[in-house]
Amino acid sequence: MRLRASAVERSGARGLAAACLRLVACACLVVVPVVDARHEYSTREQALASAFPGRTRIESVTVRFDAAARSDLEGSLRRRPVPRELTFFDVRDERGEPLGWAIERDVLGKSEPITYLVAFDAQRRVLGIEILAYRESHGGEVRRGAFRKQFVGKDARSELKLGRDVRNISGATISCRAITDGVHDDARLLERALSSQTVAANTSALDADRPAVLEEQPGNFRRAQVCMGTLLEIVVADVPAEVAQRASTAAFAEADRLDRLLSHYRETSDVSRLGQAAGLAPVEIAPETLEILRASQRLSRATDGAFDPCLGALARLWSNAARDQRWPSAEELATARAGSGLAHLQLDDDRRTGFLDRAGTRIDLGGIGKGFALDRLGQVLESHGVTSALLSFGGQILALDAPRSTPGWRVDVAAPNDRSRAVASLTIARLSVATSSDSERSLRIGARRVSHVLDPRTGEPTSATASSTVCARNATEADAWSTATFVLGEAGPTQAEKHGIAALWIAPDGRRVTNRPFAELAPSQPDSNGPER
Ligand code: ADP
Ligand code: MG
Repeated sequence: MRLRASAVERSGARGLAAACLRLVACACLVVVPVVDARHEYSTREQALASAFPGRTRIESVTVRFDAAARSDLEGSLRRRPVPRELTFFDVRDERGEPLGWAIERDVLGKSEPITYLVAFDAQRRVLGIEILAYRESHGGEVRRGAFRKQFVGKDARSELKLGRDVRNISGATISCRAITDGVHDDARLLERALSSQTVAANTSALDADRPAVLEEQPGNFRRAQVCMGTLLEIVVADVPAEVAQRASTAAFAEADRLDRLLSHYRETSDVSRLGQAAGLAPVEIAPETLEILRASQRLSRATDGAFDPCLGALARLWSNAARDQRWPSAEELATARAGSGLAHLQLDDDRRTGFLDRAGTRIDLGGIGKGFALDRLGQVLESHGVTSALLSFGGQILALDAPRSTPGWRVDVAAPNDRSRAVASLTIARLSVATSSDSERSLRIGARRVSHVLDPRTGEPTSATASSTVCARNATEADAWSTATFVLGEAGPTQAEKHGIAALWIAPDGRRVTNRPFAELAPSQPDSNGPER
């Protein structure tokens, strides 16, 4: 804790310089999906979730090494030069006790970087390694569990020599060495960072792969925490660190409060109580719940029902089907479909109640809740005097004003099939960007991929979309429209345009469809892997 406090004082004293920040917008998980490690990469959130099931708070910390620390490290690291700083995640349980730490890192394979996340327990022993991205045609065997398991239990005192205590995989030696040496150095860097008296720089894990930028432009204040089952990150610029600290603390508290009202995973939430009383009686709900349900109704109509907040029974049917590896029967599907649809939801503004008129009907706000929360968190930050900030909630983004003297926050939209590649780069302020994508959360039943977005017209998982990104002033709208355009398929961008929403839709074969508002936001785009329309 002392580490973080001093980081804040130091960055405040230095003044907060503006920085353009690079983010990868991507869809994120709410339900923990079945990940087939042989074919899929973990996301950062999945890797953190599997290493730290009891996590409730994750903060990113950057420790800068002074000259003395670096000269100490010089003799013990395998890779040169000794980095100027280390960015890592500090993971804690609900009482604030440390569960451990994690480092996300790129190491060079033969010619391309390999991205991995290594998690350490509270005794600084390796808990596990996940490969987040592997980009070369050969050597991908390092993704195998048997290779990764060899690191479990190792620490900064372990020799970690390839061929000795880490078995090599023939044909994949370069990757094996890159990871072995990487983890060897990570353990030593972490040890040093945690025991170091050197002062932490400002926290900014999102720039961890670009330390040079961080060095030149320190000063954005950044915090992250797990909320609604995914990572909520807040970057604040242009205010003293004390203000940023206070504002972000209030924003995290608001996110937790909304989660308690809106999550269908919590039995006592308003949303769950509505489901428990479905077909029986109206339920009194909080003003925020009423507001998000009203917004959901509006957006469901605007999207011709493609966005349906009442498809909780269908969502449960499909996640159970994936868990049991069994395709639902026609009857099960028909029952769940009959319980879906906006018509089952009645709201009474005067009495402040909601009523689901059919037993079995369930609300699912997974397609709008993070956006709604983002809008409110933006207001909370502003009420604390912050106007320049970037919020990312499981990849859905809300930008407030740009940092002083910059044109905006830089946001990259990741390709659905390769998160390291950007399909669009946007420089934004006062705008929200939301992406629904299958790359992050693929359930499977046998060989068939089961999207987490369902098509209310059929009751089945959507299959014609790889990812769909939308931009709107309001994050609630952006979130719901990203889900809706995912369902609507290539007709989505045209439908969105009628409502002033910018959209970029990508088919599973890489083909893209954008609308005019999107083209205006992103005039020249990186190469597509399919023809532009
Ligand atoms: P992510 O959660 O990855 O950001 P989305 O914003 O697209 O992705 O939301 C997907 C979630 O929305 C699903 O996990 C489910 O809870 C819910 N959902 C699925 N299909 C629909 C739909 N047609 N309309 C409204 N919500 C949906
Ligand atoms: Mg959505």
